[in-house]
Amino acid sequence: MTSGKPAPRRLTIFGATGSIGQNTLDVLNQLGGRDAFEVVAITGNSNVGLLAEQAKACGAELAVTASDDQYFALRDALAGSGIEAAAGREALIEAGARQSDWVMAAIVGTAGLEPTLAAARRGADIALANKECLVSAGELFVKAVAAGGGRLIPVDSEHSAIFQSLEDGQHHAVERIILTASGGPFRTWTREQMAGVTAEIARAHPNWSMGLKISIGSASMFNKALEMIEAKHLFDLHPSQIEVVIHPQSVIHSMVGYTDGSVLAQLGSPDMRTAIGYALTYPNRPTLNVERLDFAKLARLDFEAPDEVRFPALRLARTALERGGLQGAVMNAGEEIAFHAFCAGRIGFLEMADIAEQVMEDMTGFGSAGGMDEVFAADTEARRRAGEIIARKEMAA
Ligand code: NAD
Ligand code: MG
Repeated sequence: MTSGKPAPRRLTIFGATGSIGQNTLDVLNQLGGRDAFEVVAITGNSNVGLLAEQAKACGAELAVTASDDQYFALRDALAGSGIEAAAGREALIEAGARQSDWVMAAIVGTAGLEPTLAAARRGADIALANKECLVSAGELFVKAVAAGGGRLIPVDSEHSAIFQSLEDGQHHAVERIILTASGGPFRTWTREQMAGVTAEIARAHPNWSMGLKISIGSASMFNKALEMIEAKHLFDLHPSQIEVVIHPQSVIHSMVGYTDGSVLAQLGSPDMRTAIGYALTYPNRPTLNVERLDFAKLARLDFEAPDEVRFPALRLARTALERGGLQGAVMNAGEEIAFHAFCAGRIGFLEMADIAEQVMEDMTGFGSAGGMDEVFAADTEARRRAGEIIARKEMAA
């Protein structure tokens, strides 16, 4: 006889050692830990000490590091635990293909695409934090999830807010979506002031605590650029339906405007655990220990129009949306290379957008996104070209 207790939900966590990954493990603990969930696999990159610790704490069956050369360090750190260790890109994809019910996709950058696709194809529910999957491979990724039969539940706070504001199912009556943006640490700065900043200065976000790439992306507003494209694919919108408004308090996480003039919004503290918990228990709401909004203390919510001259990333996103095809993949890859060069002190803050724009212009005729091969080819070529531009700039300096 079977007991009436439902089987625990089986989970995979990509990018467990990162900011979203750590918050995900915290949410799992808040919601009952090992009694409620079985962790199939967790993954990380070079921080194998933390990865091993997490794997033991959550009782994962498998831990995977993306770094081939960290395999022995991970295996040694897991010795005696009975947890399987694996390393490298193929192992990440295999982890994605291993049966589980729900996958947190929280690897940073395009490196997240293939493992997440493997999970989507076998029909897992995908809790999507990694926006690059949709920016690079938009329609193909959405189709892969649909063909697999799983659900795609956004974790990015803006998209979770929109998803929640669409809960009444009146999609046909949606006029527009309004993505809120904090404006980042340089919201009121001139371009001259931004020109000289280092990665250390740019990563200090006023409201959210996040990984390095998204923090820098918030300062340059490249993060919002990625989110505009992410929104198009998640909610099947025309580019003209996507608006951005600066809202420095980050309390309204985004909004949906309907044909009757109503605007629905989701509000909350700037804490990713709300969006993660929602994606984990959807369509039910969990009980979470996160800070509650105190409206009397907040007193005011401010809004202003974004400035596409000081923050050209927003203009680039519109261009990518209008051009369609592989321009999202190209913009994303160009920016990723430029981001690494900025962090290494090789280029200035404002040059990140210049490089992404130049690569986009150079690759307008680079075919269409017929299949994943084309996406990967465009990604590789955009990286190569961005690398060349950076090398030329260095030679000229
Ligand atoms: P992070 O840098 O804190 O963590 C990234 C994770 O990816 C780590 O586990 C790291 O080990 C792993 N990783 C790094 N390089 C890898 C590679 N080459 N191959 C495989 N794994 C690799 O990043 P984060 O802030 O947690 O963001 C993760 C994703 O979620 C990003 O796409 C980001 O845009 C998105 N996101 C983050 C937040 C946030 O609040 N942090 C909010 C919304 C969306
Ligand atoms: Mg976001």
